[in-house]
Amino acid sequence: MQLTRKCHGCKQDILKDEMVQYSSLTGKTSYWYCHNCYEEKLARERFQIKVCQIFGIKSPGPVIWTQRKRLREEYGYTDDAIVDCLDYIYNVEHMNKLTESLGLVGPRSMSNMKKWRATKQAQASSLVAAMVNMKTKEYIVPVQEKKKKKEEINLDDALLE
Ligand SMILES: [Zn+2]
Repeated sequence: MQLTRKCHGCKQDILKDEMVQYSSLTGKTSYWYCHNCYEEKLARERFQIKVCQIFGIKSPGPVIWTQRKRLREEYGYTDDAIVDCLDYIYNVEHMNKLTESLGLVGPRSMSNMKKWRATKQAQASSLVAAMVNMKTKEYIVPVQEKKKKKEEINLDDALLE
């Protein structure tokens, strides 16, 4: 009885119990992977789907795969980080998609993306904080009259939008 199989990813002989069988969507092919290679394969597929969505392409070209490899090796970025960064560059900053490339992904855009995400997450709580702050002001400066009141009303309107 065959106890080991060759991993389709790293080509090493691994105990069958420690492997995962992966079948293609069509079911025509099926391969055995060790856990690491299986995770890697799934990450690669998620990456591919997102990159295709962002650029509106059917499959990423060799340049993108090379760039992905470099970003992972050079900066230790995960696929999710790369995809989030791409999403930020093109769907938030709306940079021009001149070519299908990961060329704009790097430390600067990555840090901008993280800042943007943090700001976005903080928005909900800062709305609450702003309202609390308004009430405090009202309380502390009760006589300092209508001009301030007016600002607060405007801010109220702004919050409703
Ligand atoms: Zn493997």
